[in-house]
Amino acid sequence: MKPLGPIPPGYTAIDGELAVDGHKASELVAKAGRTPLFVYSRALLTRRIADLRAAMPARLAIHYAVKANPYGPVLSHLAALVDGFDIASGGELAMVEAAGIDPRLVSFAGPGKRDAELEAAISRGVTLNLESEGEAERALAIGERTGLTPRLAIRVNPSFDLKGSGMKMGGGAKPFGIDAERVPALARDIIASGAEWRGFHIFAGSQALSAEAIIDTQAQTLALAAELAEASGAPLPHCNLGGGFGIPYFPGDAPVDIVAVGTALDERLAQLPDFLSETQFCIELGRYIAGEAGVYLCRIVDRKESHGETYLVTDGGLHHQLAASGNFGTVVRRNYPVAIASRLGAPASEEANIVGCLCTPLDRLADKGGFPHAGPGDLVAVFCAGAYGASASPAMFLGQGPAAELLV
Ligand SMILES: *Cc1c(COP(=O)(O)O)cnc(C)c1O
Repeated sequence: MKPLGPIPPGYTAIDGELAVDGHKASELVAKAGRTPLFVYSRALLTRRIADLRAAMPARLAIHYAVKANPYGPVLSHLAALVDGFDIASGGELAMVEAAGIDPRLVSFAGPGKRDAELEAAISRGVTLNLESEGEAERALAIGERTGLTPRLAIRVNPSFDLKGSGMKMGGGAKPFGIDAERVPALARDIIASGAEWRGFHIFAGSQALSAEAIIDTQAQTLALAAELAEASGAPLPHCNLGGGFGIPYFPGDAPVDIVAVGTALDERLAQLPDFLSETQFCIELGRYIAGEAGVYLCRIVDRKESHGETYLVTDGGLHHQLAASGNFGTVVRRNYPVAIASRLGAPASEEANIVGCLCTPLDRLADKGGFPHAGPGDLVAVFCAGAYGASASPAMFLGQGPAAELLV
């Protein structure tokens, strides 16, 4: 038997069934009209932001990284809770606008921004986190041609990375950001151009569970921001400290100690050098905000045996759950938190493999897990599905199409 990841807090059982915000899984499926279905919990999103606010310094703004989950109702719900949104494409700009979010609260990072995306962002007052000198030139040229004042920040490629991070986004040669030593010269050019100078964006990695690693990275980030601001010769208006707070997906993972992170950051922010004394700081979080607030429900279609192993074959799969299948940035496949949603709380009575409906051996949702006996008609829940599920899986693979989504 292989262990399963930890089911996040906040989910309950009603009449032996998984319930989200008091609604039973079968009722949610009936409401959506079909499986597979992503269910996102308004209550868990709200609680997560409240917990972050309580732990982080009051001076720190909290931004949501849209790419984790751009579902419109989730964005609209978060609009009342967070201070800003970070996007990484023109498509995401359209999504935040459709959700009624003020574009002046939005910043746009990401390599390969096309001119049309730059122009759309500039015309709406979005802050551009510039990824190269070439991109800076194009943004300034668009400002000149249109008579608009671009709001420009520089994404810095730091020389350090976030230790224990699932995806390294800083340190050494990278397609992201501008190498730190070239930043002051570009900052001076931007300030001299008359564009609105917005400061730095320094993102060093993702999915870290160690508070110590996050504290260490934030300290290095603040030191780098101070050094670069001084070398640029101007006080820093804004600094995005990145994020990287992870969530427990796998057996043995423990949640980030956000109180420890907040306490350490509070101390650092109390002793900033002059160039940073008026700076507005933010962190940008995607999976930490949305990940545990979502669950993926699919239905068992078939139960079969092969060479002594039991397979529960569902109507879902890696086309919605690439990460849970073990095919998105993982080296060794481990089980996500997975349960039989229609028999939640029933004791495990057998070992079974839960697989998807795609004709590929990669399509696995749980390997050799302990589950109550289940068969066709039962619902399976994959937890930690609120981030990088629907938005980061190949929904069109094998002609399957997207899952339904619901915010409760
Ligand atoms: C992906 C990304 C994030 C969000 O990462 P999470 O692990 O979901 O918190 C934040 N900032 C940038 C620049 C990113 O590329």
